[in-house]
Amino acid sequence: MQLTKARSAAEIILMEALDSFKKELSSPKKIFITTHVKPDADALGSSLGLANYLLKKGHSVTVVTPTDYPSFLTWMKGNETVLDFSNPNDKDLAISRLEEAEMIFCLDFSVLGRVNELGELIRNSKAYVVNIDHHQDPEDFADFRYWSTKAAATCELVYELIVELGDKDAIDKDIAECLYSGIMTDTGGFRHPNTTKNVHLVVADLIDKGADCSQISNWIYDSNSVNRLKFIGFAITHRLIVRVDLHTAYFAISKKDLKKYQSQTGDTEGLVNYALSLDGIKIAALFSEREDGIKISFRSSSDVAVNKFAASYFNGGGHKNAAGGKSDLSLKETVDLFESLIEKCQDELFPAETITVH
Ligand code: 5GP
Ligand code: MN
Repeated sequence: MQLTKARSAAEIILMEALDSFKKELSSPKKIFITTHVKPDADALGSSLGLANYLLKKGHSVTVVTPTDYPSFLTWMKGNETVLDFSNPNDKDLAISRLEEAEMIFCLDFSVLGRVNELGELIRNSKAYVVNIDHHQDPEDFADFRYWSTKAAATCELVYELIVELGDKDAIDKDIAECLYSGIMTDTGGFRHPNTTKNVHLVVADLIDKGADCSQISNWIYDSNSVNRLKFIGFAITHRLIVRVDLHTAYFAISKKDLKKYQSQTGDTEGLVNYALSLDGIKIAALFSEREDGIKISFRSSSDVAVNKFAASYFNGGGHKNAAGGKSDLSLKETVDLFESLIEKCQDELFPAETITVH
């Protein structure tokens, strides 16, 4: 297969497949779109942004998420049509839509393990599979891959793909707002090192198409419940461990803590960043005890990589400075293991020149 350098953000496109992809889309298709578990703004925004575009082009489209997602994302156009595979009321319909699908789009994930049970159904499907994503080390499961680790967000890639298809004018306010939200959050509000010139160019165009930045920011960042705000205060006061000697800080949140503050999906999102905001801290983590084990979020400063660490020791992965993983040990055993691994991996994680002594 011929590899070609392509547009600014999409580093690599399989060009032979691009032609077959265009051909697939040239007549109305039954399309199934899915994204990773616990979808964030990039996952849901890219899925609904793409869905709204494909609907405009005359396709029939179903968006299925493997689990539920935070209420601060429910303003997106098409939200009410999304099926939640983990909801028994939606599951049968989701399976039949998957079985009849002619095309399956997998957005914002690169390994089928990120969509739970849907993963094997997709692997065994006869449909034409498309993967649009910006995570490292993609698994080879797609007929057409539109992938670049240089892209800040999958939403940026969906924008580029629509442009590639010659349909820039089809991007309306609703599509622009879905795509804007994923770029805004995956760049940490245009603050992370992935905030490239291309990001600003794409976002400028999305604003041109009608995206209301201040409204989106308000919907996503300023919709806290009192419980959530109190939970953040509690976590910072009582659950933050700072290991200055290891340049590491982390939160360990128990099931009981989550219950006490009536935690909703999305309530722990962003908490890990408070640990990373500490002076001298280069690695931050959040351990939260869930029904199915310990969910872990890792964050790091720009000169330290956490994705390989997450993949090597916590069955996870992600980006250089934002990764995740899981553990089947208890909360206490997991944090003890984490501390000992950080200690053991000092040389690897912190090459001497990256450490500044304060
Ligand atoms: P978050 O901490 O926001 O849940 O995830 C941060 C980043 O790590 C996201 O890009 C997400 O896709 C990735 N990530 C989170 N959990 C996992 C996991 O269990 N496996 C893999 N491969 N990536 C993960
Ligand atoms: Mn993303």
